[in-house]
Amino acid sequence: MAVKALKGFKDIIPGEVETWQFIEQTARSIFQRFGFSEIKVPILEKTKLFTRSIGETTDIVEKEMYTFPDRNGSSLTMRPEGTAPVLRAYIENGLYAVKPVQKLYTIGPMFRHERPQKGRLRQFHQMSVEVLGTDKPWLDADVMAMAWQILRELGLTASLEINSLGCKACRPSFNKALLDFLDQAQGLCDDCLRRRQTNPLRVLDCKSSNCQEQYAQAPSILDFLCDGCRDHFTTVKEGLELLSVPYKVNSFMVRGLDYYTRTTFELVTSDLGAQSAVGAGGRYDGLVKQLGGPDVPGIGFALGVERLVLLLDQLGKGGSRPHVDLFIAALGSQAQEKAFVLTNILRANGLSVAMDLMDRSLKNQMKQAGKAGARYALILGEQELENGEAVLRNMETHDQENVVIKEDIELWSEEFAHITH
Ligand code: ATP
Ligand code: MG
Repeated sequence: MAVKALKGFKDIIPGEVETWQFIEQTARSIFQRFGFSEIKVPILEKTKLFTRSIGETTDIVEKEMYTFPDRNGSSLTMRPEGTAPVLRAYIENGLYAVKPVQKLYTIGPMFRHERPQKGRLRQFHQMSVEVLGTDKPWLDADVMAMAWQILRELGLTASLEINSLGCKACRPSFNKALLDFLDQAQGLCDDCLRRRQTNPLRVLDCKSSNCQEQYAQAPSILDFLCDGCRDHFTTVKEGLELLSVPYKVNSFMVRGLDYYTRTTFELVTSDLGAQSAVGAGGRYDGLVKQLGGPDVPGIGFALGVERLVLLLDQLGKGGSRPHVDLFIAALGSQAQEKAFVLTNILRANGLSVAMDLMDRSLKNQMKQAGKAGARYALILGEQELENGEAVLRNMETHDQENVVIKEDIELWSEEFAHITH
């Protein structure tokens, strides 16, 4: 029996990968316009990096991490998210000393041991950004506007939900009010009963409809914000309005990671069933210090690539045909040799060129050219070699022209210079 891939781990094969490339290229272009630099960080980290930052009593750390002992016994974890590794790298490489405000992005796989389903995998991919060094509220709006712009340029729509989770100063008073409320609540699910003890804020994230009904009456964190957090949130909202980014305040949105402070947000869609978030993020002002770095504020978000691919596919905007400028259909060994060399020279000159290496008939070679999506085909047979002229066909218009074959293929290749996209 052939060995299969692991459950929840997927290959991204030709036909699909073009959608991925479109998404990545679009995001990279926008990250660059917004002044972000790429950073690449390892997939494996010491487990304590994540337990310390994400929080011991979160779902990710409690039940989703791929954690195992290294051969020497130290505990390693395959990164379940990108913020902690990027912050570790920021601290370890002293990036705070290089520039007062660092804007970093990274693209790559994340690992969570969840139940695989549509839009939920065990290896999935995120495009994520972190801005470190400033807590100006306009930055929060700017970062959300960037996420919004990525969706727009991909041709997708999602709604932006925002909230503030307060800070060290004001969250305890909300926690207390929430605990008082939970003491009165009836028939909570087992998870919520447990969360009430370990991490009360998390209950608001419960998916059970019975719990959700109860929480509709729960106190709103927005009524408990200190002056600083309230002003910050007001300016964030004004910033979004100035940039004409539509948003909705959702005071029940708590995120699945403990490190968030103040602004949090999610991009949600109704087109993916239960997996409704295509991206999410927020501010984490104490996190760099908590990980052993300087006391600098930060904000970031991550977009889930698989969910963006699903949305594009649903709209029929996924996939794309491979791009070939010229297909050379050659017949006979002499013509094949000319084609072989010409192909190589044109590729070096920047054209995407294909030729047949299977001794197919002319008819089948032209079929191949069609399948490859070639814009032009050059027909080079024995007859053509004898006449000293090959036929160049525009595959869209079917117009044909004769091109004189030059002995010096280096020189001949110049005649194809006009086939550029
Ligand atoms: P969810 O509520 O769907 O579990 P999350 O809050 O755990 O999402 P984050 O940790 O905020 O997700 O990650 C940001 C984005 O990464 C999500 O909005 C989603 O698009 C994507 N994502 C998270 N987990 C998965 C997964 N297991 N498979 C595919 N994409 C995922
Ligand atoms: Mg999750």
